Amino acid sequence: MPAYEKLLEQIYEIHDIDKAMGVLSWDREVSMPAPGNEARTKQLSTLRKISHTKFTSDEMGILIDSAAGELKDADYDSNEASLIRYLKKSYADARMLPSEFVTRMVDVAGKALFVWKEARANDDYPSFQPWLEQAIELNQEMAEFYGYEDEPYDALLDKFEAQATTAEVRSLFKSAAEDIVPLRRAIEEHGRKIDDSILHQEFEINKQKELARYLAKQVGYDFSRGHLGTATHPFATSFSRDDVRITTRWYPDFLNPSLFGTLHESGHALYEQGTAAGLARTPLARGTSSGIHESQSRMIENIVGRSKLFWNAHFHKVQELFPVQLGNVNVDDFYLAVNKVQPSYIRVEADELTYNLHIILRFELEQAMLNGDLTAAQLPEAWNNKMEELLGIVPPSDREGCLQDIHWSSISFGYFPTYALGNLYAAQLYKSAVEQDPKISEDLSRGSVQALLSWLVENVHQHGRKFTPGEIVQRATGKPLGHGDFIAYVTEKFTQIYNL
Ligand code: ZN
Repeated sequence: MPAYEKLLEQIYEIHDIDKAMGVLSWDREVSMPAPGNEARTKQLSTLRKISHTKFTSDEMGILIDSAAGELKDADYDSNEASLIRYLKKSYADARMLPSEFVTRMVDVAGKALFVWKEARANDDYPSFQPWLEQAIELNQEMAEFYGYEDEPYDALLDKFEAQATTAEVRSLFKSAAEDIVPLRRAIEEHGRKIDDSILHQEFEINKQKELARYLAKQVGYDFSRGHLGTATHPFATSFSRDDVRITTRWYPDFLNPSLFGTLHESGHALYEQGTAAGLARTPLARGTSSGIHESQSRMIENIVGRSKLFWNAHFHKVQELFPVQLGNVNVDDFYLAVNKVQPSYIRVEADELTYNLHIILRFELEQAMLNGDLTAAQLPEAWNNKMEELLGIVPPSDREGCLQDIHWSSISFGYFPTYALGNLYAAQLYKSAVEQDPKISEDLSRGSVQALLSWLVENVHQHGRKFTPGEIVQRATGKPLGHGDFIAYVTEKFTQIYNL
């Protein structure tokens, strides 16, 4: 049997174990009773250990090398060559983490997640603090295991955004902020006043659910290969391209979280549903990086989902479901309300313009914690100070401050910047898409994303992880990632919305 086929057999098994872990994690977030957490953490830890041991074995290294030898003349774009490239890097990375460390990390993350949920619910930062201390230490250890050239943060960032460096990201964020801040000030100083109270009314949860399903369908989410559930911290997850699930949260008195949360997670899910069938059961059958993934969710949530064209076509459905609340509201006023710019405490509810400032805050604090310049005990104060500096507001509680995000309980420093990178990728990809295919704008003017989705499948989704984020964006748009298209997009949009 050729080495490549033997390799595939092994890779399929590891993939199956990883996806079984995905099911257990999905269940933990969506339907597991709280006391089940202790056993669930052990189950995940055991599976992770089996998967990690299998993947990091010496035999696996030999198999990858033999298969690479067999395929040395394979086309760069082929599934085979791409899988070998991907495996070589992830094998090298995985070998850098001792299995004792991985087990310890999964164990701490499982318990920390549970503590974080309670701490957030009770606004009790002190109960989470010792777990964050452990998380910081684990991130520091991990950076040392992986190694880095310039700064420890590079080692962690690379795992979410392959080949991105902290220095590059810092520079992109700095340039973006230099343009966002004056625009935000202009809006505050002489923008028209936008009233979004229509979004803050009583909205029956069962009708919100119906609306969420309607909107997810409109943006192309395939429910025959999907499922919509409820989670405190919404996410999308895929067990195969034919089982890609999304979750949303429902606020009885605020429409945005379920509306835009569903559109956001649908964007993630479209990416996973759109990966080529030929990549099934391999690690290539998923989004290439957190940043590119986020570009798909933010494009659907914001560029499409907060556009005038989209609501011209679909506002009637919102009115149909909520005639008392919105029956007499004009679509223009709804469009303005969902695009209101206002500094807010909660990242996931932030407007398109100030969102990146939430990320810059976390990006800076994470680096400080990783470098030992900031302790877990100092975090709440540092958070509040940074928030005041960047957004001009101070959260009234840690629940609305440093306890709001799940990420630090799951030991994943380096993840946050990918959200803002996602915004930049989204604008650049979208601009190229509408330039390359005039049908996209025609379709959108009727509220249909069909042509856009076809372009995304062709240029992004189908490739899964065959190419790096840099390769995807270069191939699709003809240039490397910049901040210019995002700035042009928000400037045009908000200048018009605020009559600047
Ligand atoms: Zn997302």
